[in-house]
Amino acid sequence: MIVEMQRNATQSQVDAVIERAQGYGFEVQLNRGTDKVVIAILGSDTGHVPTANFEVLPGVGSVTRIMRPYKLASREFRSEPTEIRVGDVTIGGPRVVVMAGPCSIESWEQLDATARHVIGAGASILRGGAFKPRSSPFSFQGMGFEGAALLRQAGQALKAPVVSEVTDSHFVERMAQEVDILQIGARNMQNYTLLRAVGETNKPCLLKRGLAATVTEWLQAADYVLAAGTAQVILCERGIRSFEDSTRFTLDISAVPVIKRQSHLPVIVDPSHAAGHYALVPGLARAAIAAGADGLLIEVHPDPANALSDGLQSLTFSDFARLMVECRQIAEAIGRTL
Ligand code: PEP
Ligand code: MN
Repeated sequence: MIVEMQRNATQSQVDAVIERAQGYGFEVQLNRGTDKVVIAILGSDTGHVPTANFEVLPGVGSVTRIMRPYKLASREFRSEPTEIRVGDVTIGGPRVVVMAGPCSIESWEQLDATARHVIGAGASILRGGAFKPRSSPFSFQGMGFEGAALLRQAGQALKAPVVSEVTDSHFVERMAQEVDILQIGARNMQNYTLLRAVGETNKPCLLKRGLAATVTEWLQAADYVLAAGTAQVILCERGIRSFEDSTRFTLDISAVPVIKRQSHLPVIVDPSHAAGHYALVPGLARAAIAAGADGLLIEVHPDPANALSDGLQSLTFSDFARLMVECRQIAEAIGRTL
């Protein structure tokens, strides 16, 4: 249930709504907008309480039931788009934000060279995998915390925020000290313990869509992170399983306008994991910006042929630089910057 307070409602009127909700055993989350307070009343059986029980309270403007299975990620809870600030970068604003770097952090030399190149070419956030959720246990599993420390160092040297995946709730606290954005991978989108643990850090979370998750399931996963306390979730479409096998995954471009309609959260697109092949990445990246994505997540490697993971889908430095020029033109064509 969503309680919208009147514009001039007082704090004690807001408190009275919260008290009544808590009296029924419900939880509440507040959205203090620019002109009014919106209160989400959360619980499995809010349907049993008549909306009139809140409508009668002084200062209440309107009470609506949210019929969607997700609440905090919904447009009903927050009508204005959420902007997430990380250092000097804003995600969800007019500027399209590019996050780029290697799939896996392999060495200081590999990471530092890639970081300098991608930030120099127009990326504003550095990515790098330290813990890799590989489909095979025999594949390279990442450098772990040692890699995360290198990422922090590389980001600091260029004054660029960094993003890296956390694969286990036990690693969350330590990873939160190393990175600016905690990524939850596609394979972990429904790992609810991990979602909660990341939400409790209050750090921005980059939540990838599960390989076979619907938009609704994805937004419910976002609710887990938001319910744990943080207000900062960035959604990332990275391709879903379909019958089509000419790409690694099928990039669901429609997810971008669908998310924009149903949620206030920023949404970015990862064309690398969707494509699975470097030749397909630029087309998907351009399409994502044209569709209204707030950013891109792109894998870049100094020597893709010898990468320890995802070499086939990684762009070379020169391909990445060329793509940034094209993406900037598309961003400008739709009234944004990059
Ligand atoms: C990644 O970004 O490195 C990654 C493993 O992506 P996904 O979780 O989308 O497969
Ligand atoms: Mn990868």
